[in-house]
Amino acid sequence: MERTGPTPDPPNPSTGTVGSPAASERTRTEFELLSREIVACRRCPLGATRTNAVVYRGSLRPRIVFVGEAPGAEEDRTGLPFVGRSGRILDAGIARLGLSPTEFGVLNVLKCRPPSNRFDRTAAATCRPYLERQIALLHPDLIVSLGAWALRSLDPDAPPILKVAGHPRRPSLGALFPLVHPAATLRSKRLKARWEHDLDALADRIRGGPG
Ligand code: SF4
Repeated sequence: MERTGPTPDPPNPSTGTVGSPAASERTRTEFELLSREIVACRRCPLGATRTNAVVYRGSLRPRIVFVGEAPGAEEDRTGLPFVGRSGRILDAGIARLGLSPTEFGVLNVLKCRPPSNRFDRTAAATCRPYLERQIALLHPDLIVSLGAWALRSLDPDAPPILKVAGHPRRPSLGALFPLVHPAATLRSKRLKARWEHDLDALADRIRGGPG
């Protein structure tokens, strides 16, 4: 399952990608074109209220893609996913998994920040083709959903998040491993313990063990 290769390229400032020579030139070109399409998108009302569309950060040939719900204020300001408080928790979790920068990527279901940070299901349906095209181009071994809305967007038939977090699933877009949202760890000790427990189950799965 491990993908190896020479030293990765430096990050692309326009797309947030760190890339890897293992990603084909065609993938790079198509991802760049898709990213520009998203940045220019005004298909739903969120396009009028965002500061920046938030496309992706990470490798262009990731083993794992983490999928969150929607950009927050810091993400809207910078144009990069999970760079605020939730992002710091996610990055600590990724470090706990032992993933290198060339092994993962991070994106959201919604590419533009919803006002008041309330997940917009109608906008998510409009935005979904971008998510599908990103996943198809990145072709990860595993998708990790972060939070209830990301899970529901990727796996509409899934039971409630607390029933399935930490347990692998296989919906149409590819192998899925749901986690609670990183921000949930700030709300209660119980959810923080659940986050850490499920991360360890994910680590077992990445290493080819149980989970
Ligand atoms: S949320 Fe998605 S569909 Fe709506 S404007 Fe942004 S990129 Fe386009």
